[in-house]
Amino acid sequence: MSIEFQFDAQAGTARAGRLLTPHGEVETPVFMPVGTAATVKSVPQDVLEELGVQILLGNTYHLYLRPGVETVRTLGGLHRFMAWPRAILTDSGGFQVFSLNELRKVTEEGVTFRSHLDGSSHFFTPESAMAAQIGLGADIIMAFDECTEYPADRSRTQASMEMTLRWAERSKKYFEEHKREVPWNQYPVPSTQRQEKGAVAGNWVLGTGCSTQSLFGIVQGGMDLALRKESAERTVGIGFPGYAIGGLSVGEPRERTREVVEATLQYLPSDKPRYLMGVGTPEEIVEYASLGIDMMDCVLPTRAARHGLLFTSEGKISIKQARYTEEEGPLDPNCGCRVCRRYSRAYLRHLYASNEVLAQVLNTLHNLSFYLDTMRRVRHSIRLGEESRFLSGLWSQPKP
Ligand SMILES: [Zn+2]
Repeated sequence: MSIEFQFDAQAGTARAGRLLTPHGEVETPVFMPVGTAATVKSVPQDVLEELGVQILLGNTYHLYLRPGVETVRTLGGLHRFMAWPRAILTDSGGFQVFSLNELRKVTEEGVTFRSHLDGSSHFFTPESAMAAQIGLGADIIMAFDECTEYPADRSRTQASMEMTLRWAERSKKYFEEHKREVPWNQYPVPSTQRQEKGAVAGNWVLGTGCSTQSLFGIVQGGMDLALRKESAERTVGIGFPGYAIGGLSVGEPRERTREVVEATLQYLPSDKPRYLMGVGTPEEIVEYASLGIDMMDCVLPTRAARHGLLFTSEGKISIKQARYTEEEGPLDPNCGCRVCRRYSRAYLRHLYASNEVLAQVLNTLHNLSFYLDTMRRVRHSIRLGEESRFLSGLWSQPKP
């Protein structure tokens, strides 16, 4: 078994359901916190479990450079290495290669790039990106694609899309030939982790030697709606258990992102999970869930938290501002997270101003709680059939 996807409620174009993975169940629509280097910065794994995180994202590019795929594979794969018994998704490394490397060189065969750590030269191909993701051993892995830059003219966008399609076929071929090599089949998870996983995820059993990863395809096509349609149809033609919409949030206006997502979604099969990569703000994740997106990820809640930018039911707060120096109330009176239950705005402001490590920890905890709660309310609203609440009542943002 690899994954199964079922949705049991619909409201308009939105749907709520569950994704069953070899490492437990994920309720959808889901927001996936980003754990770039096998850690969601400043938050221990047991706290992520308490927050109700069911799936994390790891970045292949970063893990490939440090500690290295072979190290993680030898230690039993990412789940065992980072002591995280629940589901994991890794990206293919393509996006980081394109966004972090100005000196990259792209050919039909693959991409040559330099490490941002030490300047050393590396080469990713669809095959080596699959080998890396199989070695890391996430539940869901992504085809190697080229994220088309923005802006790009039509001929450039089309050529890039065609190469991504050829790379998708090569990714799938390599994956099908090597998927039995996933480390969790060779290294059973320790019994304590297995018991814990059993407690949260019913009868899903690890280390039985018979489960495999799932490879998702990625739709490209830039901002061109006709190319998006063609990319979606031909990617579906190759055949994957789930589909991602890539190449967005690359600098285009927000209205354009929505337009492309809406146009692309209609060509993706409704019985497969649909993953929008790299979005967004709390308002945006609600909006995309209402359009029928099932999975999203973004560094925004964790990165913003480290810069003192906090999302609340009353709008965004920059906790560094002097106006909070003597505010005794909680960060968000409508948030039940452990930070809002215990600490004042004044204390959080003091921690941030003093550059205390705890500021990052608490700010990240609140922002993640806020995102996860938002998605919980979205799923609840879909089950109640109250689609309209997504964009009006559920998320209202008066200025603080
Ligand atoms: Zn809170």
